[in-house]
Amino acid sequence: MSFSSLGLSEALLSALVQQNYSAPYPIQKEAIPAILDGKDILGIAQTGSGKTASFALPILELFQQPMKVKNRHISALILVPTRELAIQVNDVFKALGSNLPKRIKTMAVYGGVSINPQMIGMQGVDVLVATPGRLLDLISHKALSLAEVKTLVIDEADKMLNLGFEEEMKEIFKLLPNKRQNLLFSATLSEKIEDINNILLTNPVVIKIEATEENLDLIKQLAYTVSEERKGPLLRYLIKENYAFW
Ligand code: AMP
Repeated sequence: MSFSSLGLSEALLSALVQQNYSAPYPIQKEAIPAILDGKDILGIAQTGSGKTASFALPILELFQQPMKVKNRHISALILVPTRELAIQVNDVFKALGSNLPKRIKTMAVYGGVSINPQMIGMQGVDVLVATPGRLLDLISHKALSLAEVKTLVIDEADKMLNLGFEEEMKEIFKLLPNKRQNLLFSATLSEKIEDINNILLTNPVVIKIEATEENLDLIKQLAYTVSEERKGPLLRYLIKENYAFW
């Protein structure tokens, strides 16, 4: 199967050639047509399965349609647990959306850096990739509104819960309009993910991609027993020496 049978336009197909994506990964085969069809999605898939492009491609495609956009009203919100993932997801949107007939402005916002440039940069943003805490800060500064969000993506929902973002997520959900498309991705299923599923999703298409051995091999674990006061120095040493964990 090729990308051209999934309902994507020529402009996106040529972006895929540029990225050397020759054939869709399993999650992309299932998710892209369903999202283009306006369905909600529950995707159980690990990092490395190609899940980012599975939602970025159809969002970019759908947003090629003319849309009325009010100032500082984003059209798609991608919630992610960490700054690293925010940057990574934003980069995928940028790479895939760089040559589209209608320009889609995307931006990543996260904590730990000054809020002012993010407030200024919000002008004209269509797709916002955000960590929950910083998003709520920006909303409280009136930098943006979620009232016109058409697509909500929750990426790595299980990690978001593990990091304690449940309350922030629920606060964010209250600010969204009732009518919207919801895409929920998580590496694992749990009772809490089911709760979010029940709150957010309407008759979702469920896509489960089993982790391959290859994925699991990417993670190696190592433990050192050290006293409390030596934790920091040891970590600094390991980072400085670019210690080979692998
Ligand atoms: P993700 O799971 O979204 O983090 O993607 C994992 C990696 O797979 C990223 O480096 C992507 O650029 C790459 N990738 C995603 N889809 C494809 C594809 N269809 N063909 C080749 N590489 C891909």
